[in-house]
Amino acid sequence: MNEKSGKSRKSEKSAQRQKDGLGTYRGKRDFGRTGEPSGERAARDRVGGGDGEASGDELSFVVQIHDASTMHFDFRLEVDGVLKSWSVPKGPSTDPQDKRLAIPTEDHPLDYRDYEGVIPEGEYGGGTVMVWDRGTYRPTSHDKQHRPVSFAQALERGHATFELHGEKLRGQYALTRFHGREEQDASSGGNAKPTWLLVRTGHRSGGGTPDPRRARSARSGRTLRQIAEQG
Ligand code: MN
Repeated sequence: MNEKSGKSRKSEKSAQRQKDGLGTYRGKRDFGRTGEPSGERAARDRVGGGDGEASGDELSFVVQIHDASTMHFDFRLEVDGVLKSWSVPKGPSTDPQDKRLAIPTEDHPLDYRDYEGVIPEGEYGGGTVMVWDRGTYRPTSHDKQHRPVSFAQALERGHATFELHGEKLRGQYALTRFHGREEQDASSGGNAKPTWLLVRTGHRSGGGTPDPRRARSARSGRTLRQIAEQG
């Protein structure tokens, strides 16, 4: 009896994890140690509110600079209640000539878009996080008959176009999947993770690629160094 109810509690919990897509995110982190959001509250609010998308028609995006074991940018787009995420080693460019490698990472909770601070050393992703840019985006993907395609579907198909309305990044961008190289195949036992390219598809605007050491937060105006000192 006890065993049975224990099991059903467990399967309820795993069903919940499946449902909000954040099981991988939570599994990597100890929320007693990191100040990153668990996403639990946002999930409860959505259940209680019952009005689907927390932010209405506006879909949010955030680009964070993450000074971890290697400096990189994290590019996140709101899709179906979570932030779909890519790690972009060189960062997004406003120059259409630049094709930026974007490696998929685990879905993050929506409230991660406001997260800025220091993840303790030794924890997953230990290092400083800055909200470099944030705003909303508009999906612009169409099929061959020029009918609009949902953003989730566009990602599924491996090519998604969108218009960013950020404080720094503005205009048309595209994310396109391509297959991993042979050495990636070998290192992951033939099961290579797909890699994507993030490309500016409109006219060049602004100054190309930001220098993460000089960049300032869209949220607080601080540099990485100031965030590292102040937490
Ligand atoms: Mn990161």
